[in-house]
Amino acid sequence: MSEYWKNAGFYWQPLGGNNIDQISGHCYQYSDIVYNPLHQPVISTVLVDIGKFDNYQALGVPHACAAVPDVRLLLEPGPLQAQAIFLTHSHPDHMNGIPHYIKAGYKLPPIYGGKYTKMILEDLFLQFGIEPDLWPQFHIIKDGDSFVFGSLKIETVASSHTCFDSFGFILFSEHATIYHTGDMKIDSSTYFRKPTNIKRLTALSAQIDCVVADFCGIDDDGFAVKEVDTFKKLVKIIKTSKKDKIFLPVYPTHPEMYIIAFLAALKLKKNVVFFGNPDFYSYLKRIIDYGISFTHMAQNRIKVIYTHERDEIATLDNNYVVIGTYNHVSLAFDATPQNSFGIITAKTFFNPLKGQFNSHNIKFVSVDDYPVLQGFGHGFLGDYEFLNSILCRPTFIPTHCPSYIVNNFRELAEFIQLNLIEQTPVNNEVYQIAQKNCRMVQKNASLWLAVTYSAGYAYFTEVPQKPTSGEGFLKRTISNKRNQNHFKMFLHKRKSAQKSADRS
Ligand SMILES: [Zn+2]
Repeated sequence: MSEYWKNAGFYWQPLGGNNIDQISGHCYQYSDIVYNPLHQPVISTVLVDIGKFDNYQALGVPHACAAVPDVRLLLEPGPLQAQAIFLTHSHPDHMNGIPHYIKAGYKLPPIYGGKYTKMILEDLFLQFGIEPDLWPQFHIIKDGDSFVFGSLKIETVASSHTCFDSFGFILFSEHATIYHTGDMKIDSSTYFRKPTNIKRLTALSAQIDCVVADFCGIDDDGFAVKEVDTFKKLVKIIKTSKKDKIFLPVYPTHPEMYIIAFLAALKLKKNVVFFGNPDFYSYLKRIIDYGISFTHMAQNRIKVIYTHERDEIATLDNNYVVIGTYNHVSLAFDATPQNSFGIITAKTFFNPLKGQFNSHNIKFVSVDDYPVLQGFGHGFLGDYEFLNSILCRPTFIPTHCPSYIVNNFRELAEFIQLNLIEQTPVNNEVYQIAQKNCRMVQKNASLWLAVTYSAGYAYFTEVPQKPTSGEGFLKRTISNKRNQNHFKMFLHKRKSAQKSADRS
């Protein structure tokens, strides 16, 4: 194994976001190495995110209850020990690896993340029964903050995503400047949250050499759906349904949809019933604790209730929107085909609800009819073309995206003059980044750590990374063939646009 850390340079290692097919368990290492006056290497290492890998069942370890990226070397004393963990946002695939490492006895370096991220992480610690004296130190960060770790400077940049306090980071080293996007779209219409800080990125455009990019949505053309468009569509659908009772399920971990749905109800002066599973209520409580007051926004225009008790529902004059995470239409709502309408805003989660609507003969629309109904947190191809246009042709380093999609994208990327890293990165490989050049300097086996518990302690089992498509409910990775067709179509569209431009 090459001991790359003995040589000056800026090194990047994906530890979870560059899987073969299904993507979760995000985690990335950045190590900057400079020589001191005695010509000894001085290493500054930070981690960005430690998520959990969702499809742990596919790893085949008996009694496993989770899987995490392998960051053991980076948490133990040694040359590469991380000085900080930066969290882009609060989603499980970006931070739920953390409690397992604490339960396995690791002492974590200080964590840097948003206020909302801290709230969700502390909930997680309580769920895992981790005593507060074992909680890592947490520093709350905001857009524009910057921190120095040895030779590495890190600046926080606000990001539009589907939860509060989503951030990207700019990492400044003497070898290169990298924009790590985190989960991000360009959308500037976010509600109660700072959108992606385009102004700051534009100001830094001459400096940014590489973009470690969230390519989760690269398979869709145009810009990612804007929140304001989702809002407008909801208003329109509710209005034209002409029904008194609207059933509007939302995905629990996407608070922006709670708010957009609420604002749509408010706009149409329909009362709101928040109704759902414990997961939904716990996220709703977090939103309220965070400082969003639905009661205040409602003023005296609408009523807001948080239960589905008949007496309370009776106070709503049969005029309401039921917002929440539910798979059944409670009898308490007396829903009939005459008075009710359904709007399903997520793809997989609410399938049983379709059956319910059908069996009650209640008409509904879903994301299959109007994709705009789904909250989108990831940039599409258009978002990245835009980013490419405001920066000075940086090298894009894809993450959050299966390797085959990156390879399929290459021809189109070349045509739109988006510079892709030459070799598609795979988990655990180490890359050296010098300005816009990225080259692999170490190939490690890609693996996951399956987590099992015994007597309250977590134990890790190494499992080599292998394709896991088709397992469980996560069978949602786009097929290779379909993806190839998409990119072919996008390329064709651009080529013919260019031809007709040349002709005119
Ligand atoms: Zn996310």
